[in-house]
Amino acid sequence: FNDNLTYPTKPDDFDWQPYYPELPSSSSAPTVIDIGCGFGGLTVELSTLLPDATVLGLEIRAKVCEYVRLRIMSLRETEKGNYKNAACMRSNTMKNLVNYMHPNSLNKIFICFPDPHFKAKNHRRRIVSYDLLTEYAYCLKPNALLYLITDVKALHEWHLEKTDAHEMFARLSDDAMENDPCVKAMINVTEEGKKVERSGSNKYFMVYRRLPEEEVA
Ligand code: SAM
Repeated sequence: FNDNLTYPTKPDDFDWQPYYPELPSSSSAPTVIDIGCGFGGLTVELSTLLPDATVLGLEIRAKVCEYVRLRIMSLRETEKGNYKNAACMRSNTMKNLVNYMHPNSLNKIFICFPDPHFKAKNHRRRIVSYDLLTEYAYCLKPNALLYLITDVKALHEWHLEKTDAHEMFARLSDDAMENDPCVKAMINVTEEGKKVERSGSNKYFMVYRRLPEEEVA
């Protein structure tokens, strides 16, 4: 499928202002991203849950991205003053994330119910891999968090195996996860999460902390 998208050579060449026209330009670069945001349920929830964050949903499908853009425009219209810190951009994060994001710029990355790519020959298309984790670590601030959730047990095991093995990440404690409202949000408000809920299937998740350089073994 066609992902022939244009993208900036480097983050400084990209202007976020059109995505967040009501934010001061000093805070219009994203600090929280929702990779493969789908219909944007989590992106809009995070916008109110984290009012000081600049939230960006990233979605590769043009029509779905346009749906989320209109959803946010309509929310901004009906609830004046809210949702000005939410936006959706079309992009292929597997190829272009570091063209858009400055190093050490993100507080949180969410990867919710990513496509499982079941067949072994398609595992290289998975959005969690050693190389992509290195890009996520590069964009995240030290101690910032990576959230992973799926309903596919084998994919969850893949997520744990790859991220546990990556020197830049460590698991968050169960207590810290339990007390994090973003964990509840990622379990409950994504469209895919709601679908899984209705079907009665399990949801498997983990949160990782991006280690500061001095903690890397
Ligand atoms: N996170 C949403 C949720 O939980 O409801 C959507 C989950 S859906 C199964 C996975 C989404 O990731 C799809 O909307 C798909 O188009 C998007 N996606 C897949 N590969 C992507 C990529 N390389 N860059 C951005 N989005 C991608």
